[in-house]
Amino acid sequence: MSHIKERRFRLGWLLLLPFFASALVGALLYRWLMTEGKRSTVLWEFLRNPQAHAEWTVRVGERCGSAPFLMPTSGLIGYLWGDSFRPGHRHQGIDIFGGGGLKQTPVVAAYAGYLSRQPNWKASLIIRIPEDPLQPARQIWMYYTHMADPEGTPFIEPHFPPGTSEVFVEAGTLLGFQGNYSGDPSNPTGIHLHFSIVLDDGQGHFRNELEFHNTLDPSPYLGLPLNAEQNAGEIPRCSIPSTAGP
Ligand SMILES: [Zn+2]
Repeated sequence: MSHIKERRFRLGWLLLLPFFASALVGALLYRWLMTEGKRSTVLWEFLRNPQAHAEWTVRVGERCGSAPFLMPTSGLIGYLWGDSFRPGHRHQGIDIFGGGGLKQTPVVAAYAGYLSRQPNWKASLIIRIPEDPLQPARQIWMYYTHMADPEGTPFIEPHFPPGTSEVFVEAGTLLGFQGNYSGDPSNPTGIHLHFSIVLDDGQGHFRNELEFHNTLDPSPYLGLPLNAEQNAGEIPRCSIPSTAGP
């Protein structure tokens, strides 16, 4: 008798499982639609006609308020720090889409520092900042990538070839142009710049820039709402001066 009851009890839970599962999927889907999904919709709209949405963009070299960093490139900041492109993944930086073609949208140093490229880096560079402007006791790094065509022809300025080590660059120095290199020539990304701020390992080297927990929220460095968890759908851009409107 008790055996049957137990079974019924278990069966009851089993019947409820699809309900819980669909509620969970629904909640996750809702969250996605309100964040990454919303950003994707805005991005597609922008890429269809970038000229019509210039007010959604940031401009290379501009400074938002009193933020320490300059904008590293122009365009729509389509994806933020912490966005999730697949379960378990969190985006280590921000993606800025210029809306133009390959090798058209300039990329500059957001802050003064020492530029290096590993010998096998086709589309990437990193800049060491000995004193974090927001926390001067530590060293941080700025990582730039996707600066090549699908085959890996670099759009980084020729005087910073692979293997470059510790070349000083001022804030605003031209580093190259946006590209769409993904590592897989048959499946390039959209044309953009990926920019992230990477922690130091304490021994003078950068931590693995591909791990989310090795990166910093770029919001206070660029003076924009770039944290995916805190941004509910606002397009990050510097406030438009009041004289710009009609
Ligand atoms: Zn990215």
